[in-house]
Amino acid sequence: MEENIRKLMGLLKPMKVNIRPHLKTTKSPILAQKLVDAGATGGCVAKLSEAEVMAEAGFDDLLITCEIVGPVKVRRLVELFRNHRKIQIVVDSEFGAVAVNKALSSSGIEQPIQVLIDLDVGLHRTGVAPESALALAQHISRLSYLKLIGIQGYEGHLQHVHGRETREAQCRASMAILTSTASILRKNGFDIQVVTTGGTGTAEFCATTPGITEVQPGSFIFMDSDYYNAVGGYFSQSLTVLSTVISKSGSEHRVTIDAGLKSLPTDSGFSEPKNMPGVTYTPMGDEHGWLSWDDGPDVPLGARVEMIPSHIDPTVNLHDCYYAHRKGVIEEIWPVATRGKVQ
Ligand code: PLP
Ligand code: MN
Repeated sequence: MEENIRKLMGLLKPMKVNIRPHLKTTKSPILAQKLVDAGATGGCVAKLSEAEVMAEAGFDDLLITCEIVGPVKVRRLVELFRNHRKIQIVVDSEFGAVAVNKALSSSGIEQPIQVLIDLDVGLHRTGVAPESALALAQHISRLSYLKLIGIQGYEGHLQHVHGRETREAQCRASMAILTSTASILRKNGFDIQVVTTGGTGTAEFCATTPGITEVQPGSFIFMDSDYYNAVGGYFSQSLTVLSTVISKSGSEHRVTIDAGLKSLPTDSGFSEPKNMPGVTYTPMGDEHGWLSWDDGPDVPLGARVEMIPSHIDPTVNLHDCYYAHRKGVIEEIWPVATRGKVQ
């Protein structure tokens, strides 16, 4: 993990962008601080509830990358902002912008909140269409409790594109949408200081695109088999889920471990046992999984098996803490402090 952090900083720092890692991966203020100590400028979180826990733990230089919509959440945002003025938010609608402005205007807080326009650069998940960005900026400029500081355009659909050249070409096309929209806003008088984007699969392409000021990679710190298969082995798989062989049932070429769907998500394929070539994992419901092989040595009852997750973010969200070990010795235990904070 430490080497992954060093490698990321070594790769991106010379490219003169700010590195604001996405903390949706680690969900830990302790790890957020380690990233800042290594050179990051604050962090991103996905959700308001994550930001609340991070800020309470003393880490509040945060961009919340999902829109905050609806009266309950907007009220909570205002209460968070009251004591944590560095918080930045994204908006992709007049509806969302007006609601935050209105709640702030009646809060007694005089400082405006820093806002980025969320732009759709091809993912079609959130974000205003490029042709509508100027109108949204003009609308925001009429809301006195919002201060427009930048634009976010996350190209999540490109992170796992296999083949570096293809991924780079598609990323550069998305970045052209983002930087040209930023230019249009600037030409119309908007002070766009932050242009933020990028994940583990694309950060170096984003960082070398003129006009991008900040990147948001998250998964690089632990990686997972799906990412590793797509982007190669620059970062190593530093997190595993430790399981135990609890039964031998039904076949000589199979054992059952105590890790099923509650331990290892399957949206990006099945996990892989570490350093066990020829052995495959199949989930067997909530609590169990099979390890099977055609030939090779037996796996004994009681054996501890390290499982490499296929998708790191939902995996972390299933576990209470990290056991940070070096050379076989646990050095520290870090809580997954924002576990379950998905609201
Ligand atoms: N930025 C945003 C808005 C994201 O949603 C994500 C992940 O989904 C990231 C950055 C981090 O990307 P990755 O985990 O691929 O490094
Ligand atoms: Mn993910």
